[in-house]
Amino acid sequence: MAEKLDGKIAAITGAASGIGLATTEALIDAGARVVMVDRDETALAEITARLGDKAIAQVTDLLDPDSCAQMVPEILQKVEHLDILHCNAGTYIGGDLTETDTATIDRMLNLNVNVVMKNVRDVVPHMIERGTGDIVVTASVAGHMPIQWEPVYSSSKWAVTCFVQTMRRQLNKRGIRVGQVSPGPVISALLSDWEPDRLQRAKDSGSLIEPSEVSDAILFMLTRSRNVTIRDMIVLPTNFDI
Ligand code: NAD
Repeated sequence: MAEKLDGKIAAITGAASGIGLATTEALIDAGARVVMVDRDETALAEITARLGDKAIAQVTDLLDPDSCAQMVPEILQKVEHLDILHCNAGTYIGGDLTETDTATIDRMLNLNVNVVMKNVRDVVPHMIERGTGDIVVTASVAGHMPIQWEPVYSSSKWAVTCFVQTMRRQLNKRGIRVGQVSPGPVISALLSDWEPDRLQRAKDSGSLIEPSEVSDAILFMLTRSRNVTIRDMIVLPTNFDI
């Protein structure tokens, strides 16, 4: 049975673009207020002005350890409580491992895995105290199948997929649902590193999906009766052939 999100408060990381922005809009449409966490202050200011008082900007660079540690406490100074945390911020760089520098490996594992673990760790005591909450992570289809030209990205998403499943088993019995959405290639700024040929081929063959198709899945997860946890929704373009 579908439930509305009226009165719910969500925080979404990486909310100023792509999947995070589409999810912000979907949750606000469903009645929630959303704290939009992003490092892009200019984009956040423009978007929150457009979306009105249900969108609240939280400027945080999650790769800065002090800012990351302050994220949940700062959010809880702005809103009364958090019902939903969507860990969505992530970075993508493909390419041969031998041509991937150390800083890139560190940044990808840090943002895609370590930051998610820290954000979840920081919100869990608040949700346990309230006896309720929803945590959703944007993983990837690359977290389900080893993609040969994305060794670091694919590994980061396998790691976060494992993390989500362990946390789900731990937290579901305490009233906190933990799930993930695993998209295939989505048209967003994240794919700016794709070779132009590859991007064009994917577009031409209908092998990319829109961010709103991912946010539809997230909204579906969040609006199920609390008796139901959707563990993972894999959202793929119909012509997905990796
Ligand atoms: P996007 O680039 O459109 O949006 C990412 C947002 O995260 C941006 O607003 C950016 O400013 C923000 N961000 C980046 N680094 C940050 C930091 N250090 N601190 C705070 N904010 C930061 O990307 P997207 O495609 O919407 O990706 C969102 C998530 O979806 C990522 O976890 C990504 O791995 C995952 N994903 C994307 C695709 C795809 O094809 N685009 C496919 C599967 C999974």
